[in-house]
Amino acid sequence: MFRVHDDLRPHAVVIGSGFGGLAAAIRLGARGYRVTVLEKRDGPGGRAYVYERDGFVFDAGPTIVTAPFVLEELWQLCGRRMEEDIDLRPMDPFYQIRFHDGQVFNYWADIEAVREEVRRFSPGDLEGYDAFMKASQANYKVGFEGLAHVPFNSLADMARVVPDLVRLGAYRSVYGLVSKHIRDPRLRQVLSFHPLLVGGNPFRTTSVYCLISFLERRFGVHFAMGGTGSLVKGLVGLIQGQGNTIRYHSEVERILVEGGRARGVRLKSGEEIAADVVVSNADSASTYHDLVPAGDRRHWTDRRIRRSRYSMGLFVWYFGTRRRYEDVPHHSILLGPRYKELIEDIFERKVLADDFSLYLHRPTKTDPSMAPEGCDTFYALSPVPHLEADVDWETQAEPYRRRIEAFLSETLLPDLENQVAVSHVVTPRYFQDELNSFRGAGFGLEPVLWQSAAFRPRNRSEDVDRLYLVGAGTHPGAGLPGVISSAKVLDEVVPDAQRVKGAA
Ligand SMILES: Cc1cc2nc3c(=O)[nH]c(=O)nc-3n(C[C@H](O)[C@H](O)[C@H](O)COP(=O)(O)OP(=O)(O)OC[C@H]3O[C@@H](n4cnc5c(N)ncnc54)[C@H](O)[C@@H]3O)c2cc1C
Repeated sequence: MFRVHDDLRPHAVVIGSGFGGLAAAIRLGARGYRVTVLEKRDGPGGRAYVYERDGFVFDAGPTIVTAPFVLEELWQLCGRRMEEDIDLRPMDPFYQIRFHDGQVFNYWADIEAVREEVRRFSPGDLEGYDAFMKASQANYKVGFEGLAHVPFNSLADMARVVPDLVRLGAYRSVYGLVSKHIRDPRLRQVLSFHPLLVGGNPFRTTSVYCLISFLERRFGVHFAMGGTGSLVKGLVGLIQGQGNTIRYHSEVERILVEGGRARGVRLKSGEEIAADVVVSNADSASTYHDLVPAGDRRHWTDRRIRRSRYSMGLFVWYFGTRRRYEDVPHHSILLGPRYKELIEDIFERKVLADDFSLYLHRPTKTDPSMAPEGCDTFYALSPVPHLEADVDWETQAEPYRRRIEAFLSETLLPDLENQVAVSHVVTPRYFQDELNSFRGAGFGLEPVLWQSAAFRPRNRSEDVDRLYLVGAGTHPGAGLPGVISSAKVLDEVVPDAQRVKGAA
């Protein structure tokens, strides 16, 4: 590959090596920038960090890969094909959803099979399901194809899309749109839980997020063999192949601003690194609150950051078992006895409830090499309030884990108490302390309409020239397709390398 001599290339610093930061580094590298990614931890991935314990491999975060074409584009930018590095397998069913009374809804890859499931649960809702999927497709066209990778630099940009949003009824919540078409309360849950996968409350998240149902149907749900960590490793390889660098143990303490323009960064170690452009993949609220001096911020003041709404927190229990649980699917959603009330406890009342709903991940169903022979790797994820809640995780984490263990033992994983070989727990404290996520939120700013598009911290900073934001807390939002699309927006807002060099 043609490589310009380092000294001639303008320098881009990327803060953080989450999927958004890695994708940003690749795009800037492809456009002729010399890129340095600075990561505070000892490895890449951010929320997609990988833990290995005694032969068990745990993807810490994302496990469900949708819209694989957004990843494929990154390989193409480097003149490569993703399949050279990644073995992506389609999932079927996408998920199995298990209700508290033991009933199971299989969310199959084939739409006719899903329609059959809908008919089995509530024959009268079949027509409504078809209408809902049409609405989902319309939201996908506007919300993903039309908006996800375009910049919102001003309110005028926002005004341009308002007619579409009004036509789609974006003021309605996801649950509202589902309920318009579906009567059965269980099917309403099955079709409305998706916002929780990106940090949203289904009863408040704009119905534009119903696009996820169509996105899954259109492009499938996938798993990368070896785990999501193999995608992270693949992206790191692309960055290195461009002749660029990722530095670990390099926490940025300040974005250096002079005359309203980002000039570089200072690390906690005191080292200063000059840059022509700075891209922050750190949580957007923390980027402004902690890294940009208050005097350089007119829009994202401390007060505004404190008054914004944040996604829920997450409690995740990673565990390996001495035996395999052959009947357990790759992705299960285990719904508790309450739906709306539990969600209100988490998002509005901010209390840690006695009951829970879980997402259970069993990657060894698809890739047994992620555990020692005859064993299984799991994680159980429970949405909980973020750190505004009065929960002392020091004392609450272990009893909460035990409740989850007892529940799983009674339902899907008999005798679990005696089968656990390795165990690791993270709470919202980890998201705050390790990942620098404001209020320990699992997914950054909550995806409500008035915190979307131009109302979200913008990809081109409103406050500091030559500072750009990617990742879950900026436009378009959380989830792998979202954060990778946020890096694509940079192609529109970051000047060409030649122009930057000329002006530097
Ligand atoms: C448990 C869990 C499960 C999920 N499941 C899915 C899923 O199945 N599918 C899906 O699509 N999405 C899923 N998501 C959402 C998805 O993982 C995230 O939205 C996405 O990975 C966030 O990427 P990001 O680019 O915003 O960066 P992050 O992953 O948040 O990474 C930011 C990085 O910046 C670093 N950093 C922060 N501050 C500094 C600093 N000052 N200096 C240097 N480095 C710094 C952090 O250490 C971190 O590495 C899940 C999330 C979680 C937590």
